[in-house]
Amino acid sequence: MIIEATLVMIILLLISVKAGFVDPGGLISSFVIGYVIYVLGDRLFFVPLLIFYIVAGLMTKLCYEEKKLKGAAEEKFGARGWKNVLANGSVALIIVCIATYTNNMQRPEFLAAYLGAISTAYADTLATEIGLLYPREPRLITNMKPVPAGMPGGVSPYGTAAQLLSAFTIVPAIMLFLPTKGGLTVFFNLLAIVLISSLLGSTFDSFIGATVQAVYRCKICGKTTERRVHCNTEAQLLKGIRYIDNNLVNLITTIIGAVIAYMLVYSGLISFENYID
Ligand SMILES: [Zn+2]
Repeated sequence: MIIEATLVMIILLLISVKAGFVDPGGLISSFVIGYVIYVLGDRLFFVPLLIFYIVAGLMTKLCYEEKKLKGAAEEKFGARGWKNVLANGSVALIIVCIATYTNNMQRPEFLAAYLGAISTAYADTLATEIGLLYPREPRLITNMKPVPAGMPGGVSPYGTAAQLLSAFTIVPAIMLFLPTKGGLTVFFNLLAIVLISSLLGSTFDSFIGATVQAVYRCKICGKTTERRVHCNTEAQLLKGIRYIDNNLVNLITTIIGAVIAYMLVYSGLISFENYID
């Protein structure tokens, strides 16, 4: 597994550099997270992460100029930095480490928790990147009033559709790598776990975004932004708490997605014990 993981990660590293998915800091952090998850969790755990990484990377680049005009594109042509990588991937990494250390890698609730963390981060990223292409203004989740594109807590039909669709890219891929070939029941159980945890997780993300997350106004271009620095200048705090930025919200949201998914299986509400026997 170590040889395979090393080879795959080197290929992925070269693709990432060529495509500009991440900056140098993002490259190192995503390499470490990806490599550890591959070695400890095998293909079953690595594949959902890979799909998230590639699809989110491509969607960030999609219509980049259009997003830039709205003042809401990721900086550096969409190359993600280490903070963003850790905010989205560290909970998944910790779950795999805990499961390995406690000899629980085969337990379905740990696979569920892992998928909950990944799919929440994935759904949230796609909702943002595809939601930005919505031709009209998004609406704030708390009062449904129109807000500028890129505003934390803003929701749009495109974003919600992207959240739902993300589950349908991740679950079929997991099915291919299950130790025993699960049937339709396993497929629908996994789909339910991924949909419920990622939808609740990203809805929570929007609520935090709409209420306590810091929102700034750029002193140069006048656009509302969730970034502390816009147009290379320190922006002015408009509302929210300065220390609560998008990365912190993402980190909390992935924990929530993981806990929900874990509880769904642990409580017996959704069972897929049969995935290993
Ligand atoms: Zn600006």
